[in-house]
Amino acid sequence: MAKHIGVIGGGVIGLSSSLLLRQAGYAVTIIAKDFPAPFETIDPITQINFTSPWGGAHNRWVPPHPSNPVSVREHPLSLTTFRHMKALFSTHPSTAGITFLKGIEYLESPGPEYVALTEARASSSEIGPLPGFRLLSPSEFPDSKITWGCEYDTWCVNPMVYCAFLLRRFVYQGGKLLKKELRSPAEVFSLLSEEKVDAVVNASGNGFGDDENMFITRGQTVLVAEECDATVTRQNADGSWTFSVPRGFEGGTIIGGTKEVNNWDVKPSEGTRERLLKTFGETYPKILGEKKELTVLRDIVGRRPTRKGGPRIEGKVLEGAGFVMHAYGLGGRGYELSWGVAEKVVEGIKGHLGEGAKL
Ligand SMILES: Cc1cc2nc3c(=O)[nH]c(=O)nc-3n(C[C@H](O)[C@H](O)[C@H](O)COP(=O)(O)OP(=O)(O)OC[C@H]3O[C@@H](n4cnc5c(N)ncnc54)[C@H](O)[C@@H]3O)c2cc1C
Repeated sequence: MAKHIGVIGGGVIGLSSSLLLRQAGYAVTIIAKDFPAPFETIDPITQINFTSPWGGAHNRWVPPHPSNPVSVREHPLSLTTFRHMKALFSTHPSTAGITFLKGIEYLESPGPEYVALTEARASSSEIGPLPGFRLLSPSEFPDSKITWGCEYDTWCVNPMVYCAFLLRRFVYQGGKLLKKELRSPAEVFSLLSEEKVDAVVNASGNGFGDDENMFITRGQTVLVAEECDATVTRQNADGSWTFSVPRGFEGGTIIGGTKEVNNWDVKPSEGTRERLLKTFGETYPKILGEKKELTVLRDIVGRRPTRKGGPRIEGKVLEGAGFVMHAYGLGGRGYELSWGVAEKVVEGIKGHLGEGAKL
């Protein structure tokens, strides 16, 4: 009989992990307070802590560099995710919610990780290959403040189209769901009374309030109707960001965005919206079209579940309960790292329980 895993979380991390666990032959039940639903129906106040709907979400390479040990640990996870996204896109181009397109980066004041990112390094097995990587020449920069730029081939997802696709696949492949709010991962071991739970995955986004390294990073973005033809990111010398993430599938484009540590405000600021639209329009005027302005659909506020030292991806025996594989604290990179994290989750569960059954 297949060993049974209870996965806490119906966000991108819980869903990707559950799918791979199911494909590895385990019986899997996802237990979550929130599940993917059409974006338009997700409540911006009561569901603000469910981060997956509020993400962009695009893949932007963060070059691994010794000056940032977290980037060195995370980079292989982003490469794994890229491979999975490519495979899913090739088999399900019109249903998975994934778009492949150009990623463009403009930096005013590049750190050492960018200065070290040459075309030769980007195409080497040391950190890549990063498909389609090319350094931009100064004549391609939008203004004289930019001192470094590049482009590459990358992916974006329409978050709720993509997450609903993962959820549907999971159920189609025999996975089970339970909608419930939990007080602790320990609860799951006795929750599903008719079936013994052999291990639990904690993909709760934020952990359960007992991890002192967790904090939130508020992000305000604007959803506009125009479809940008690339995902464009500008890093300004003062630490602020300007970016676009086309969602595809008639989802418009996200124009971002802020990164505000420990700001719990649920309300969008009008001033921020105007600033985001103005600065993006100046950086990438092509998006404005003949109308010379953007059509605002709505403001978005989300809370990135950020963790000092990077995400927690490790297994631990919870005294008096059982084995818990933690996979939370993905900050602003949950989509980018999702399949890499999911592979680590399967490794951790297999390491503890052994192989699942043949499906
Ligand atoms: C403005 C913004 C832009 C972003 N852009 C990007 C981007 O471009 N690329 C990228 O990769 N990432 C981006 N992110 C980050 C990304 O959205 C998150 O990292 C990701 O969604 C986290 O997914 P998760 O599954 O870990 O958590 P969540 O999506 O928060 O899911 C957590 C799940 O656990 C459940 N849960 C939690 N606690 C309990 C409990 N007590 N009982 C029962 N269930 C519980 C929830 O109901 C939910 O189902 C962005 C985020 C924001 C806010």
